[in-house]
Order: sequence, then structure tokens, then C-alpha cells
Amino acid sequence: MPIVMKEGRNKAPRKPCRHPGCRELVSNGPYCEKHEKKKQEEVKVERIKYDKERGTSASRGYNYRWSQYSKRYRKEKPLCVMCEKEGVLKIAECVDHIVPVDGPDDILFWEPSNHQGLCQKHHSEKTAKEDGSFGNIKKERFL
Ligand SMILES: [Zn+2]
Ligand SMILES: [Zn+2]
Repeated sequence: MPIVMKEGRNKAPRKPCRHPGCRELVSNGPYCEKHEKKKQEEVKVERIKYDKERGTSASRGYNYRWSQYSKRYRKEKPLCVMCEKEGVLKIAECVDHIVPVDGPDDILFWEPSNHQGLCQKHHSEKTAKEDGSFGNIKKERFL
């Protein structure tokens, strides 16, 4: 038995683990057991990070489309509707959803009758009121 083991060892020459600073000798794979595991975990983390980034760029795509739409909308209706009601003429700085929406999949998101131009002041006043019942994130994202 000891001889067989010796032969086995000679067939697969041991090389140091490729992890920087590790002196473990390994006969199969570039890493020792410990670092092989670590490497696999790193790959997993990278993949999660990648998926997350893809997620944000997808929502960035919506944001881009929305900001283009918002610009066009304000070219046609440049005034803040709330200021107008108060008899003040003020440029609208964003397009607001009259009925708050749940993101771009919401039917009301792209519904023109649900849009109104607001100045920054009125928009933040309106969203501050909505904060009681709705989350913050969507308002930040779909301003
Ligand atoms: Zn190692
Ligand atoms: Zn206003």
C-alpha cells in the first residue's frame, strides 16, 4: 500500500497554491482546498454584484426614457400647475404623477392625464405629503 501511494504522488506533481502568499502544495487544481472554496465564493459574489448592476442600469433605462419624456412634456406645458393656481408663473422643473405610481410597469406611469408639471418646491411638498403612505424610493427614482 505505501508504494502505491508514493507512485500516485509522483504521477501528480504538487505545485504551490496560486493564491498569493499561500504555500500549500496542491496536486489538482490551481488552488488548495481552502483557497479553492474562497475563489468560488468570490465568483458567487461577483455574479451577485453583476446582477445588481444590471438591475440598476435597467432602471436607469427607464429613468432616461422618463427624463426625455419629461423634457418634451415641459416644452409643451412649461409652467408649474400649482403655482399657476396661486396666480404665479413659474417654470416646472419636473413632471409629477398626479396619482402616485408603482414604477414604470404601473398603467398610470405613462398615462398623460396623470402627469403635471411642478416646480421643485411644489413637487417636494407633494411628495412629502405622500411619504405617509408611500415609500420614498419610487419618488426619488421616477422624478
Ligand atoms: Zn492556498
Ligand atoms: Zn410651483
